[in-house]
Amino acid sequence: MNNEELNQFRAETTAWLEANCPPSQRQPIVREEQIWGGRRRVFPSAEAQQWFEACRDKGYTAPEWPSEYGGAGLSPAQAKVLQQEMAKMGCRPPLYCQGLWMLGPALLVYGNEEQKREHLTAICRGEIRWAQGYSEPSAGSDLANLKTKAEDCGDHFLVNGTKIWTTKADEADWIFCLVRTSDSTPKQAGISFLLIDMATEGVSTSPIPLISGESEFCQTFFDNVKVPKANLVGELNGGWAVAKELLKHERKMMAAFDGMLEKPAMELLELAHYAVGLDESGALADSELRSDMARHLMREKAMGQLGERIYWQGKAKQVDPRLPLLMKHLGTSEAQAKDELILRALGDEGLSMDDPAISEGLRKMVKQWAFNKALTIAGGTSEVQLNIIAKRALGMPSVESKS
Ligand SMILES: Cc1cc2nc3c(=O)[nH]c(=O)nc-3n(C[C@H](O)[C@H](O)[C@H](O)COP(=O)(O)OP(=O)(O)OC[C@H]3O[C@@H](n4cnc5c(N)ncnc54)[C@H](O)[C@@H]3O)c2cc1C
Repeated sequence: MNNEELNQFRAETTAWLEANCPPSQRQPIVREEQIWGGRRRVFPSAEAQQWFEACRDKGYTAPEWPSEYGGAGLSPAQAKVLQQEMAKMGCRPPLYCQGLWMLGPALLVYGNEEQKREHLTAICRGEIRWAQGYSEPSAGSDLANLKTKAEDCGDHFLVNGTKIWTTKADEADWIFCLVRTSDSTPKQAGISFLLIDMATEGVSTSPIPLISGESEFCQTFFDNVKVPKANLVGELNGGWAVAKELLKHERKMMAAFDGMLEKPAMELLELAHYAVGLDESGALADSELRSDMARHLMREKAMGQLGERIYWQGKAKQVDPRLPLLMKHLGTSEAQAKDELILRALGDEGLSMDDPAISEGLRKMVKQWAFNKALTIAGGTSEVQLNIIAKRALGMPSVESKS
């Protein structure tokens, strides 16, 4: 698509957004109003439903997915234009879903035609909410150690075991799981990727409370769960390749996750002005905080530019494979650095998540600080990411080969 065609697309997109995005859906998203889809989905308002349905019908819940599976079939350049115009107008994301961010991109590569038609379409239409079943009590960073077993019983697998840290599994309709189908070595060669309907007999969940007071994730149990053979994605014992493809997308999503959350009551600079005040020269009164904030803002800017660079390299099909490896670690650690600056600026007001004497907006920022501790763990811990960067980006010897 040349520049003229792209400009034409931009004009059409702006007009479509103007016509279809109601005023309330151009306000910053608040957590309680995110639309996660699923069989039990609820809409916080008629306008939220209207905006979701307009995007769903246009394929804009998954702009780059092929239109035969419910997407809009946009090219990366068109999708970028849509994203820019939505950001300019302040449009809320129409749908939040692990199916969109993780499973869908992996199914596009490894799913068979039937699986793509069934599952991608239901994801785009917000009909099915997905959970992720990778981690187990003895398999986190060492994921290949997983023990949940899927026994071949002719026309179905019989699944037994448990998954942990399964985000919102108690609200999900289906779960994508890594299961052990062979004890062969290496351990990765005995893993398969299964799609499991949570409504199947023998699946149960138990929520786990978090430090923030919320209960974001669960332990999920599988007790003699019958899973049709048709729900195997990719080859039997070939699940590790699917798992890695999916993790690539999960890490990309995690790098940008902070930006998808509810906007804080105040942006960092505004908050610092409010909490610390300015000196007579108009600069932030706390000089140490000022220089730490300047450093953070520069790093944040540099990261945004790195993201742009990867995008344009991708467009030219010339991505330096080392760069995407950095994004999860950089994005999540910088989000935490920002949280620390917020807490420093808040001083005493940053000491409580539930003191009613402190405004709700500020308390939410403290809660976010607690929640964001998870960013450097979920989707692969920072330590493990640094191992990967050392090995694959810097060519350093791996820990195993040291001894
Ligand atoms: C908010 C949140 C949501 C999550 N959602 C899901 C979900 O939906 N589904 C799911 O399956 N999982 C989910 N997880 C689990 C997540 O993937 C694991 O927590 C993560 O992979 C780490 O595994 P672990 O907790 O078992 O820690 P461990 O692997 O036991 O690690 C413990 C510590 O040891 C360090 N460590 C381990 N190995 C090495 C090494 N080789 N070199 C250096 N350091 C090492 C780690 O960095 C960490 O600090 C979620 C986690 C969080 C925090």
